[in-house]
Amino acid sequence: MIRRFKYVLFDMDNTLLKDLVVSVVATQKGFTKKLDALLESSIVSHEKNKEIALLMKGMSCGELLDIFRTIPIQDYAEDVIIALKKKGIRTGIATNSYLFLAEDLRRRLGVDDVYGNTLVVRNGVITGELLLHNTSLEKKFDGCRMHPICKRSIVNRICEAYKISPGEVIAVGDGRIDICMLETAGLGVAFNASFEVQQHADISTNDLRVILKYI
Ligand SMILES: [Mg+2]
Ligand SMILES: [Zn+2]
Repeated sequence: MIRRFKYVLFDMDNTLLKDLVVSVVATQKGFTKKLDALLESSIVSHEKNKEIALLMKGMSCGELLDIFRTIPIQDYAEDVIIALKKKGIRTGIATNSYLFLAEDLRRRLGVDDVYGNTLVVRNGVITGELLLHNTSLEKKFDGCRMHPICKRSIVNRICEAYKISPGEVIAVGDGRIDICMLETAGLGVAFNASFEVQQHADISTNDLRVILKYI
């Protein structure tokens, strides 16, 4: 087999982590009903993100980080990232969650890069304002909706930065927002994903170690 892959881009919630960050925070802080109502509502996803960020208003960064750190890391994630590094393959996290949390996970796992939405903080307190990664909210590609973070454009950005092609990228994710990166990458890995997401991936698995078969 030709060893062609040079980068692995991971989703965070329910991929590198075993849970959805905002659900865990909601359980701890007692706003699960409000969160579920938002998650199930039909408003567009970037508006949904902004409404969810408002639920975090008034919490300290430290408290949010403490809750975040209780979320278990996905089985074998650490081993897989170590194995990728040994092969000289770079790694990244692209998340529709909050950048400072993903940055914390990036450091813990030894991942190279991180992309996410910015939760605005003033004097250590969350203001409830959210700056989306996709600042212009353009629909950048056919087949992409107005993604709050367009993971296909992140694959492209990574390729420009490291002078590689999308065909040399492995993308791993579970959600609908991951579909555009799964399609763009040379190998799209649907992880613990719904049938809909699996339809857009090259392979489907519940075990992150499967990635190592392709490097
Ligand atoms: Mg996810
Ligand atoms: Zn997209």
